[in-house]
Amino acid sequence: MSRILIIEDELPMRTALKDILESEGYRVRAAADGENGLSQAVDEKPDLILLDVMLPKLDGFALCAELRRLEIATPVLMLTAKGQVQDRVTGLDSGADDYLVKPFSTEELLARVRALLRRVSARRRAARLLALGDIRIDFVRMTARRGRRQIHLTAKEFACLRLLAEAAGEPVTRERFLDLVWGYDAFPTTRTVDNHIASLRAKLEPDAEAPRWIQTVHGVGYRLEAEGDHS
Ligand code: CA
Repeated sequence: MSRILIIEDELPMRTALKDILESEGYRVRAAADGENGLSQAVDEKPDLILLDVMLPKLDGFALCAELRRLEIATPVLMLTAKGQVQDRVTGLDSGADDYLVKPFSTEELLARVRALLRRVSARRRAARLLALGDIRIDFVRMTARRGRRQIHLTAKEFACLRLLAEAAGEPVTRERFLDLVWGYDAFPTTRTVDNHIASLRAKLEPDAEAPRWIQTVHGVGYRLEAEGDHS
């Protein structure tokens, strides 16, 4: 059951959106100004946000930019009465995923909502499972197997691999590994990261000396060259 947050100051519009979405089975919350909308977005972590542009206290562009600054990746469908090209550009620049110009039809709204929610669930599936050749890694169950054979990975190795997978082909710095995998409870050095990567390569790579999946980015860190990854 997907949860949707509506941030819209005009009561008739807010009510109409809520009714439409609830009748489709979505769980809906609503906020009437930007500040309240932002705090609900942060606290409730909805699956999708419908965001009006002209809002009291904090406008839709600023709210969306703030969400992205906080690294909250919830998809945002922006709603505005102004259909100007500049608004669309500003909205997308501030991190919105899609844009709908008022007035819109119920069918159009629901189609956009479904499309954005599909994208979220595809992203979640991708974040859960990773395929490296004939190896299948499940980050939720914390299992790795090649065919029927289980490959034993430590919790830290899973965490390093997950960080690489989530970066979707972008390099991950050693500092970022230390921050996100080791946190503040230990005093590891960047050498610790290299040792864990070496161990992952030994367990996963066909040839650890010439890695196919876990690539070194000299002077930076590591990146994952996953299957079907053309970035
Ligand atoms: Ca408004």
